[in-house]
Amino acid sequence: MFSKILIANRGEIALRIIRACRELGIQSVAVFSEADRGAHYLSLADEAVCIGPADATESYLNIPRIISAAEITNVEAIHPGYGFLAENAQFAEICRDCKIHFIGPDPEAMTLLGDKIQARKLAIKAKVPVLPGSEAPLSSEDEAAQMAAEIEYPVILKAAGGGGGRGMRIAHNEMSLRAAFHAAQNEAQQAFKNPDIYIEKYLEQARHVEVQILADRVGNIVHLWERDCSLQRRHQKVIEESPSPSLSSDLREQLCKAAIRLAKAAKYVNAGTVEFLLGPKKKFYFGEVNTRIQVEHPVTEMVTGIDLVKWQLRIAAGEPLKLRQKDIHTKGHAIECRINAEDPESNFTPCPGRIDTFIAPGGPGVRLDTHVYRGYEISPRYDSLIGKLIVHKKNRTEAIACMKRALHEFKIEPIKTTVSICQEIISHRQFVKGKVDTGFIERTW
Ligand code: ADP
Repeated sequence: MFSKILIANRGEIALRIIRACRELGIQSVAVFSEADRGAHYLSLADEAVCIGPADATESYLNIPRIISAAEITNVEAIHPGYGFLAENAQFAEICRDCKIHFIGPDPEAMTLLGDKIQARKLAIKAKVPVLPGSEAPLSSEDEAAQMAAEIEYPVILKAAGGGGGRGMRIAHNEMSLRAAFHAAQNEAQQAFKNPDIYIEKYLEQARHVEVQILADRVGNIVHLWERDCSLQRRHQKVIEESPSPSLSSDLREQLCKAAIRLAKAAKYVNAGTVEFLLGPKKKFYFGEVNTRIQVEHPVTEMVTGIDLVKWQLRIAAGEPLKLRQKDIHTKGHAIECRINAEDPESNFTPCPGRIDTFIAPGGPGVRLDTHVYRGYEISPRYDSLIGKLIVHKKNRTEAIACMKRALHEFKIEPIKTTVSICQEIISHRQFVKGKVDTGFIERTW
């Protein structure tokens, strides 16, 4: 096992990784920008190094500064967390060149899966169902219109290099498709430095179900069942749960087996997630692969009892997986609410500022992953996620009741947060029935 690693991230995920390191007896080095100086979680790491100004391009996204911090502190490995450099294959390659282990998959797998058009092709090869769509970047507006006529509207234009729910445009007819085409290309170039876009059938009333994978260097690969992330706003997850309330045990097996086939075809190593869309007719289709630890990983940890971050560290250090598929079961039901510093009453605009009141929920079945506390100043510079509230109970009904009372206990003031909207969502009849799709939040609120 490693004796010392660096965490190239901030906030709740940096703290999550510090915690795993401490329990495993690994020394951790945290990095911070000027905006995060003095944050309490930094003092929980064994060392903390300033890597630059508040602007992420000058700090958390700055590869030379992170590599320098790693070299100065003499670490053996870097954990990238999620976001920032986590899915940057070039960063993984530079780590390899500098003889620092990257805690994640190989850069080759990241490059392959980071291009959604290539990932789609791989899914087809691995006999994983995909939605009808293009197999190469679209070269012109006319080609897009022709494809759309073949696969029939509605269709969705997506960026090959896309992520974070950005760069997607739905078209219900040729006019809106043509209107969206160039804007989508420009947006893809600007946001992801790759103008390639492709077209796919838009699946209405879809559910988002994803499968957690762990794979080691010597060919062992297991799945840790699924998470249902259908509650989304602007294609971004809001509430996640496991198991999915929408799968029969047969469909669940099929989905997990498909995920394993795909991960094997990509020669995938470490923790990863294979995302699927599930149609109203209970057919599933490949979405994309996330080559990192996910924000919503705790729901899987709660139902399986397996610590995903610890396994990421062990796998990166070359340890074989000791988990056997037949021993991985889910127990009970877990739900996670993402707590963002955003104002739900003002179109979810970010709400940075100082926290004066912070009363955390607790009691049986409650887990809170957060780096904030009373007196913490939320920077307007970074993502507005300030914590994740996770509950784990015997069944879904009890988990919903537990989440309701945990949200009721949670007080964060004076900033606005998504606690209130999460409360409304989990109390909603449709959610309680388990009958929601990816458009539910936008239709209802
Ligand atoms: P990103 O990498 O930006 O998160 P994804 O491909 O994972 O993009 O898609 C995010 C979400 O967008 C999905 O969970 C789903 O809600 C929606 N989506 C993407 N493609 C389709 C599609 N073909 N039909 C319906 N919804 C889609």
